Amino acid sequence: MAANVKTTALTCTVCGLENDSFSVKCSACGSFLQNRIPNIDLFDMLWKVIESPSKAFREIVFAEHKNFWFALMVINGIFISFTSKWLMKIGDRYENLLDIIIRSLLDGMAYGILILPLCGLFYHLTVKALSGKANLRSSLGIFSFSLTPLLVALVVFVPIDLLTFGQFLFTANPDPYVIKPASFIALVAVKSACVVWSIVLLAVGTTIGHRIPMATSIAVGIAGIGCIIGVSYIVSGLFGIHL
Ligand SMILES: [Zn+2]
Repeated sequence: MAANVKTTALTCTVCGLENDSFSVKCSACGSFLQNRIPNIDLFDMLWKVIESPSKAFREIVFAEHKNFWFALMVINGIFISFTSKWLMKIGDRYENLLDIIIRSLLDGMAYGILILPLCGLFYHLTVKALSGKANLRSSLGIFSFSLTPLLVALVVFVPIDLLTFGQFLFTANPDPYVIKPASFIALVAVKSACVVWSIVLLAVGTTIGHRIPMATSIAVGIAGIGCIIGVSYIVSGLFGIHL
């Protein structure tokens, strides 16, 4: 992977000039070197990220408009919110499950609007410090589409969580683990796997999009996803108790 990411040049079919493999147009004659990708198609791209991430991230970097990056962050904020509510055992402070769900949705959107774009910016500044090649919009595209597994976790596993444990998902006493140990462990395992998968995707996206070596990209992936989880947890710790 690293070899073709680093140095492949694109030869212009019109004038023969060798261009950088990430150029869209020939720097001498202005001919298009790549198929033009004006927009990202959301569902097509989400599927592509799962099926062939290298191809998906290449297209994200080439796309003229990085559609959906903000929407993806807002939706993923909701998964982060549910997770931090669970980690913080907020259930004891709420009357019923519906209140917890509404609170998690509202907080999640706030996380998605405020925290995730900041983490995306942090990611971009980090890769730029490591001589990353792509621009801020590409970074935000790579970052937000790397969160696809968290979207899967939100859509598939959070509802299963809620149906299995109800309000006890969020309580310390009784702990959800005590109620159904096997289900609890299985659900924690699949959601953790989704987080690891996001880290891997961010690493692949960083290698492809910014042409940073894979080993460094893995560290960037861990820092990027860790930033989301860490900051959300701190913020819910600071504000969650008093509101
Ligand atoms: Zn040319």
